[in-house]
Amino acid sequence: MPDFDAIIIGTGQAGPSLAFRLAGAGMKVAVVERHLVGGTCVNTGCTPTKALVASAYAARIARRAAEYGVMIGGDIAVDMRQVKARKDAIVAQSRSGLTAALKSAANITLYRGHARFASPQAVEIAGERLRAERIFINVGGRARVPSMPGIDYVPYLTNSSMMDVDFLPRHLIIVGGSYIGLEFGQMYRRFGSEVTIIEMAPRLVCHEDEDVSAAIKDIVEREGVSIRLDAECISLAKRGNDIVAKVDCTAGAPEVAGSHFLLAVGRRPNTDDLGLDKAGVRCDERGYIVVDDQLQTNVPGIWALGDCNGRGAFTHTAYNDFEIVAANLLDRDLRRVGDRITAYALYTDPPLGRLGMTLAEARHSGRRVLVGERPMTRVAHAVEKGETQGFMRILVDGDSKEILGASLLGTGCDEVVLTILDLMYAKAPRERAMHIHPTVSELLPTILGDLKPAI
Ligand SMILES: Cc1cc2nc3c(=O)[nH]c(=O)nc-3n(C[C@H](O)[C@H](O)[C@H](O)COP(=O)(O)OP(=O)(O)OC[C@H]3O[C@@H](n4cnc5c(N)ncnc54)[C@H](O)[C@@H]3O)c2cc1C
Repeated sequence: MPDFDAIIIGTGQAGPSLAFRLAGAGMKVAVVERHLVGGTCVNTGCTPTKALVASAYAARIARRAAEYGVMIGGDIAVDMRQVKARKDAIVAQSRSGLTAALKSAANITLYRGHARFASPQAVEIAGERLRAERIFINVGGRARVPSMPGIDYVPYLTNSSMMDVDFLPRHLIIVGGSYIGLEFGQMYRRFGSEVTIIEMAPRLVCHEDEDVSAAIKDIVEREGVSIRLDAECISLAKRGNDIVAKVDCTAGAPEVAGSHFLLAVGRRPNTDDLGLDKAGVRCDERGYIVVDDQLQTNVPGIWALGDCNGRGAFTHTAYNDFEIVAANLLDRDLRRVGDRITAYALYTDPPLGRLGMTLAEARHSGRRVLVGERPMTRVAHAVEKGETQGFMRILVDGDSKEILGASLLGTGCDEVVLTILDLMYAKAPRERAMHIHPTVSELLPTILGDLKPAI
């Protein structure tokens, strides 16, 4: 039984970075991966979807070219094979770079296969048993397949199988009107598919403020995406070559027939076949590994990082988990999950950059809340770019003057939001920096200088 100082299960967004840090500190590290090195983000999540979003954006701008005085002439054709080939090349470069780095690193051994715990200090891979005093779980998650009537009888796509699509679906039906559904929905509409998004909740991205949901709905509907909300009872059936989704919505026909069907109703952690019982590691009722603020499980010597611990569902949260564990173990720096500020982006076009509290959450917190807002039609750089959809909102505590949160829906707002994030970490009450003109960010001091009480 080979002995290591550390075993890392999974090569998602925390595992490899942690492996390099531990190996660099002189530890002998085993890294185990059962499928594609790089995990979800690199292979079936962030990287490929944002590469596809970029192709869809190019198609959109090409169609709007005349608005900018650029005459292309004729119809804009999208070659889905080329779109996929471009995406595949970007993914392959990322994956092969990481694989090569893991294989060539001193003190790291990369094992290929499914890992299961055999005991709190041992892991089995294809009959081989590895032992270590420290084990780090970074197994991520996969698409959730809900138990809808008919789901076993219709072919469905997930974010993973969407990566193989090199053709244009005639009509893509998407169940799930949140981040993944919206990104694929707008993207395929821009490629040329008819798209219907079916959402069980009364609005899209229902964790966001109502006006943010409404603005996103308006943006995608204007591009021709059909939205069906309040779809409480969804059942599926095959009719000829079509997939039929029967929906019980407050508006619209009782069924939607399409050529392809994408499930985008959330994720579940890859903890069901990990032998966690053999190690005594505790999960919650949804299968997420229970961790403390420094990402240790209930079993000494076992940590869980990334999506599988339920403390985040993003690449940056998984990477931050690595930073927290490395800081605590190697740097005597007591970093904690509780110190991080909620931050994420939705990559529709325009994107939504989100931080901290929504307006609804801030109101419910009992604080005196001040709000600064600006529509993108009043942002010079957005006007110059011809991209004026959306609005920016920043929330401030009326007493402490600390920034509580931001919802920035507009061109470039996936980047703009980081300026506010840095202010929040610095606990700076106001922005005093001089910003560059013309940018979207230059309006942030103006918004912060014109705050009004939240009604
Ligand atoms: C369509 C889509 C788009 C996304 N876009 C974004 C985005 O734009 N920005 C963002 O921040 N996040 C995005 N995410 C989320 C992001 O991809 C994840 O949060 C991130 O990948 C989590 O990484 P992780 O480290 O938890 O594990 P993962 O990246 O899921 O990796 C886990 C790895 O563990 C391996 N593994 C699992 N079980 C075992 C086992 N028993 N033995 C060996 N290996 C095992 C898996 O094969 C996998 O390689 C997106 C997700 C999806 C699905």
